[in-house]
Amino acid sequence: MADDTPTAGGAPAVTGRGMDRRAFVGACAAAAVPALVGAQSATGQGAADAAPRYDPRAHNYGMGVDVNKCIGCGRCAAACKEENDVPRVPHYFRTWIERYVIGTDGECEVDSPNGGIDGFPGPVAEGDVMRAFFVPKLCNHCANAPCVQVCPVGATFSTEDGVVLVDESYCIGCRYCIQACPYGARFLHPASRTAQKCTFCYHRVVQGLVPACVEVCPTGARIFGEVQRPSSPLTRFRRFNALQVLKPQLNTEPRVYYANLDGQVR
Ligand code: SF4
Ligand code: SF4
Repeated sequence: MADDTPTAGGAPAVTGRGMDRRAFVGACAAAAVPALVGAQSATGQGAADAAPRYDPRAHNYGMGVDVNKCIGCGRCAAACKEENDVPRVPHYFRTWIERYVIGTDGECEVDSPNGGIDGFPGPVAEGDVMRAFFVPKLCNHCANAPCVQVCPVGATFSTEDGVVLVDESYCIGCRYCIQACPYGARFLHPASRTAQKCTFCYHRVVQGLVPACVEVCPTGARIFGEVQRPSSPLTRFRRFNALQVLKPQLNTEPRVYYANLDGQVR
């Protein structure tokens, strides 16, 4: 994942208005150190060597989700709230779980009580259910992202390593990106009044850690890594599964790849 490739100092801005994105990424890396320490002590998992001069040009990230492996425990959504200081009240999620229940009559019901954090209430009567499954959702870090296109101040931007981020110091809270996202992945933070969403736990990733949701998933339903590197777990996941993305007809080019996705999922 992250390596210790030195960052080229003074590189030009990547995108946006008057903002040196490399400086922003560097700030994320610097801010990550306390999070790294916390994550290590909390999980006991040693991080890869810290990369104080992280170079986004050396990476290209994505996530895989194996729907067949998700048991709807909600640990990922809970860990995300903890890791990213997401408001604890419902309706604010950077990642959440949806339950799909398809009846013998072909009707499909979808629910996500409190984002699935507390698990799901018992199923409807067994005889009425043809199949049921859980689908973790999050920002798809679209390569062709509508949210980036509509942001009037360049606060939402794509990094060179394939992550869509929000620079809160530029965000004016206009909500254009929230309206533009076809996946419902964004919300306006009630305190900061800025747009927020999944960052792939960028503060962890630049230190060689996987996102918190990936780390806590007990079944390995979430896979994070480099899109193209042969040794990446994501590369293996992509090679051994027939993958789909959400709403492919929109041409947003998601970087979250689903295996065993039912045609009823929207
Ligand atoms: Fe933007 Fe939504 Fe795509 Fe995430 S899923 S990159 S918020 S359009
Ligand atoms: Fe599914 Fe893993 Fe999240 Fe549990 S932690 S809900 S198994 S993705």
